[in-house]
Formats: sequence, structure tokens, C-alpha cells
Amino acid sequence: MSELKNSVIKKKHIWPSLLLFLIVMCICAGLILASAGVFCMYMMQSKLQQMNDTNKMIGQLVQSNVNGASQDEDGAYLQGVYETFGRSMCVMDDCGNILYQTSRSLPNLQNNLTVDLGNQYTFYEDVEKPVSKDDAFILPMDLIVSELFKPKAKGWSYDAWWSQPLYSLTVWSKYSLSIHYKLYIQNKLSICRQDLYYVCIFSVLAAIVMSVVLLIMFVNTVSVIVNQRKLRNMLYLDPVTGGKNWFHFQGHAGRNAVQAVRKNKQFAIVDIRMDKFESYSACYGAKSADELLKRFSGLLQVRTTRKECFARIAGAQFAMFLLVDSREQCQMRLRSLLAELSGIMQNQKITLATGVIMYEAPETKQRRVEIDIDLLHNYAITARKNAVADGNFPITFFTQDMLSDQLWERKVEDRMEDALSNKEFQVYLQPKYDPNTRRIIGAEALVRWISPEDGIISPGKFIPLFEENGFITKLDDYMLSEIARLQTQWSLEGKKTVPISVNISRIHFAKDNLAQHICNLVDDYGAKHDLIELEVTESAFFDDKETLIGTLNMLKSQGFEISMDDFGAGYSSLNSLKDLPLDVLKLDGEFFRGDFEKERGKIVVRQAISLARSLEMRVVAEGVEKEEQVAFLAKLNCDMIQGFYFAKPMPVAEFEQKLALEA
Ligand code: C2E
Ligand code: MG
Ligand code: MG
Repeated sequence: MSELKNSVIKKKHIWPSLLLFLIVMCICAGLILASAGVFCMYMMQSKLQQMNDTNKMIGQLVQSNVNGASQDEDGAYLQGVYETFGRSMCVMDDCGNILYQTSRSLPNLQNNLTVDLGNQYTFYEDVEKPVSKDDAFILPMDLIVSELFKPKAKGWSYDAWWSQPLYSLTVWSKYSLSIHYKLYIQNKLSICRQDLYYVCIFSVLAAIVMSVVLLIMFVNTVSVIVNQRKLRNMLYLDPVTGGKNWFHFQGHAGRNAVQAVRKNKQFAIVDIRMDKFESYSACYGAKSADELLKRFSGLLQVRTTRKECFARIAGAQFAMFLLVDSREQCQMRLRSLLAELSGIMQNQKITLATGVIMYEAPETKQRRVEIDIDLLHNYAITARKNAVADGNFPITFFTQDMLSDQLWERKVEDRMEDALSNKEFQVYLQPKYDPNTRRIIGAEALVRWISPEDGIISPGKFIPLFEENGFITKLDDYMLSEIARLQTQWSLEGKKTVPISVNISRIHFAKDNLAQHICNLVDDYGAKHDLIELEVTESAFFDDKETLIGTLNMLKSQGFEISMDDFGAGYSSLNSLKDLPLDVLKLDGEFFRGDFEKERGKIVVRQAISLARSLEMRVVAEGVEKEEQVAFLAKLNCDMIQGFYFAKPMPVAEFEQKLALEA
């Protein structure tokens, strides 16, 4: 997804729009010039055409009226035409002898010009006003401009001013009267003020049209650039801190990580997360929380170099890409950074956990280096989650073991539902013994996961995970149902039965109507309630005391026995004894480890049993492994002993045999 976004952004560069705008600008300028040129050509062509038409008309007139009969008549006729049309003329024979001429001016037959404006026009220059070929059609602009802005003379007329020639060229055209006689007509090719104005007006109009096109293009280009910026900001900026976000981080860190690897250097991906940010936000308000994040971001900005980067992921969680030479250097930099971050808000305690993964370039050089920043960041998160608070700010470096734990957890979560329906979870029973008679008087149901792939998995490995993901409630229900089924089966088969305790996780107590739910499960198999004991750990007591007491009272009223498991392993045990309606106290196995041989250990156990007696509770000693411990507990009238000394947890069939042997 992020790669897709990055590629979309990369494809949308600004320069194509700018380039397009520049190209269109050049095209427009060229078009203005070209259209002005075409317009000029059109004007010149129409002038020449008009001139040609008039010459043709004169030629035809002369041809039909001058016949050479009388020189005087012919000359008079030509003179008349000259006065009518205002054009000098002359008639010459093949040898260039002048037969008639209306004025002094004559064509220079040696010098002719040909103009090609779609049609070809041939002219002769005037002998008196010769035209140099170079400047024949190059307009003397200085002259024209000075004429254009010349102040108007006194008594000027508009028509004369408008059609006043600013520049004129005297040329002669030829008309063949017969095979031997040619008529030459003088023409004045002039550029008048009106022509120039027409050209100017046309050019201005063309420029206006082009400017409008350019303006539209310009507005479009600017809006593309602005939108591009907005899009970039939306995709790459964190709206809360104004710093860069994860998408930017991935791109920037990815590029610089590849560079570092190519240069055989190390880098670190870091995940920093503030503990209890939600509660900070709830206590100090959203504004203060935003301020905190901005300050975090500001400090990280200062503490990272141009090639390094950071981004806020969510809440108060930040990712960093650091170029470091060694693990020690990374640790040093992070220590000082964390110290600064923790003091960023005056009088407010901020605790941070940090996970790091160091990446070293592989020894064998690869042509194509590919680094998955996302994956590395996930490893940094895994490391952070493995952090153990040690009073300082924990900085945990990622190890492969963490990954295998994580993979294992993933696998368990993927498989647990199937495992339950495939009956991979099996009931094991650990007998509880009377210390005096040394006979079985009860048992505890303990779950074992018999996995086809991994063999027997002990509950210590998967119960904490099931408590985290909530699956423990299904497992407890299953165990309870199995025990209810077993009790009923034993009764029906007339076998000896003993009460069996089932562990009920504290997670279960969040459930509404738990007591009713347990009754239903047991009643489904018609098992007697007094043959089932429910073990609750004291940690359940800390969650919701009132609900727990209510549920336990209801269960007791239904005939179930309640025992407190692992007594002495947690806090506040005595307080929970005071309030909870308990029947049995299970002394934790830790009482019998280590210093039990010393007098102090024995005193504690003695006092705990005496306390339970005073509260009218029976006592089970768990984790008993030695004969002296059994003897000691028997002397104290401990009700039951559950431990490896007597028996380890065993499959149901084995337990049945053991029980049958005692009958
Ligand atoms: P727990 O309920 O306190 O169970 C007693 C644990 O102590 C069992 O470990 C048992 O095998 C072990 N144990 C008994 N005697 C000795 C001994 O002499 N020496 C030593 N070293 N250990 C002894 P297990 O079966 O591994 O179970 C561990 C914990 O997992 C249980 O502690 C219980 O909290 C939980 N658990 C087991 N099965 C279930 C279940 O079905 N539901 C729930 N919610 N929790 C369960
Ligand atoms: Mg237990
Ligand atoms: Mg226990």
C-alpha cells in the first residue's frame, strides 16, 4: 500500500507541467510571429495582385487603342491614360528603343526582381531610383517608425494621413502589347500608415489570444504545482506534529539504508514508544498531548542528521533511522536522546521503551540491495515489546530468539482453534493425597497440548498467550466440561470418584453470568457440583473485587467448592483472604523451595496453615517434592498434598488405574 502511494507521488512530478508550460509559451511566441508574418505576406500579396490587375487593365486599354497608325494619336492616348491612372508608361520595341514615354522615368531593363508570394511577380527597377537587391524588401524600420510618430502637420486630413505612404518602392511592370512591342508601367509599391496599423492591430489581437491561452496554461500549471504540494503534504506529513510520517520514512530510510549497505556501513532502525500515552492524554488533555508530540518531533528533528530520519507512527510511537558505526554508539546516542525526551515536559513524568535492530551489510556483496524497512521496524517493535523495565529507560536490541518466540506465538494463534476441535488439548490429572493415610483424596485437572508437530507442550508456554488473546475462556470451558463428563462417567460406571479441581482463569471473571455459565456446563453432563472444585488465582481479585465476590458466592450457593490457587505467590494475599468466600487455600510450591529447610520457611508455612484453619479453610500444599516436607505438613494437619513426591500430572487412564488400585 505504502509502496503504491510512493510510486503515485513519484510519478506526479512538477517538472512535466513546467516544461509543458514553457513549450506552450515558446509555441505561442512563435505563433504570434508567424501569424504576423503571414498577415504581412497576405497584405503584400493583395497589394501586388491589385497592382497587377490595374496594370493588366491599363495594358488591355493600351493594346486596344494604340495601333501605331498615328504616333501623335497614340502618344496622346498614352498621355491620357497616364493622367487618368497617374502611372508613367513607356512603349519599347524588342531592341529596347523607346517609342513612347509619358514622363522622364524609365525602367532599367537590365535589372529585374522577382517576388514569390504564392504567385510570382516580376518587376524592373526605375533607372532613377535603383533598388539594391539586399534591401529591396527589407523595410527601413527607423524611417517608418519616425514617420509613424511624426506630429501631424497643420490642416491635416484624416484620409490623407491614414493612407500616407511611409515607405515606397518604384518599380516597373511589363505588359506585352504585341510580339515586338512591350508596354512598361511604373508602379509605386507603398507601405502606408494604415498597413502598419493593420499589422499592429493584428499582432496585438494575436498576442491577446495567445496570452489568454498562456494565462489558462499558467493557472493550470500553478494549480497542478499547488495540488502536488498539498498531496505531498497529505501523504508525507504528520498532521499532529508537522514532521514527516511513515510513508516518507519508508522512502527516505529505504534509500539511505541501501546507500549505507553499499558503503559497507551499519544502520539502526529504532522504535520508541511512550508508556501510557492514552492516560497522559486523558489526564492533561488533548492539547497538552499534542504539544508533547510536537516537542518530541522537534527534538528528534534536531538529533537526526540529514541522511537520518524519523516519523511518528501512532500515538506517542516514533520510528527512527540512525546511521551508527556500532551497537555501543547507537546505545549512547539513544541514552542521551531518551534522557532529553523524558524531561521534555516540565514536572510530568514520561517513561519510554525502545527497541532497536542493528543492520549490518552482508559479507558477500550483492548487486541488487533490497532492504525491507517495514520488516526491520517490526523487528524493532518486537525488541521493544521484549523490553524489561529496569528503572532506567530500557533499550532492547533485537535478537533472533525474539523472532522465534514471535513466530511461535503466531503459529499457536493460528492453530489454537483447530487444536481445540481436534482434541489436541488433553486433560491430565495430578492427584492430591491425604498426608496421614497417603491415599488419593482429590486431583487437579491440568491441561496438556499434545501437538502432532511439537509433541507435549506445557501450559506455562501457551496459557499466558491465551490469557492475552482471550482463548483461555474456551479452553477452561472445555476442561470443565471434560471433568464434568468424567465425573458422571465414573459415577455411572460405579467407579470410585474424588473431587477434581479445575483452574478458572481471571480473564473469565469479566464475563457476565459466569456462575450461571459454569452451572450450565456442568449440568449438561449431570455431574454433581460437590465433586468439582474451582481454582481461582488471587490476581482475579485485583480486577473487579465486587463482581468476583458476587460470582464466588453464587457458585458456592450452587454447591461448588472454591480454592485460592498459588497462595503466597502474589501480593495482598491476606487482604483477599479477608474478603473472599473461599473453602480451600492452596499454598504455592515456592514455600517448599530454597530455604524451606531453614526454620524461617517452616514458620511461614505453619502460620499460613494456622491462619487458614482460623478462617475455616482447608489447606492443600502444592509442589511438595520431599519426604521431610510431607512429614512436616502431616504434623501440621495439612489437609492435602499435591506434588511430585507423590505423583506428577498424568493422563486420565493412568489416574483411573491409580485410583482403582486404592479402592
Ligand atoms: P497450577 O494451577 O498452580 O498447577 C500446579 C502446577 O505445579 C502444575 O504445572 C504442576 O505440574 C506443577 N507441580 C505440581 N507438583 C509439583 C512439584 O512437586 N514440583 C514442581 N516443580 N511442580 C509441580 P503445570 O501443569 O505446568 O501448570 C502450570 C500452570 O498453568 C498451572 O498452575 C495453572 O495456573 C495453569 N494451568 C494449567 N492447566 C490449566 C487450565 O486448564 N486452565 C487454566 N486457566 N490454567 C491452567
Ligand atoms: Mg491450579
Ligand atoms: Mg498452583
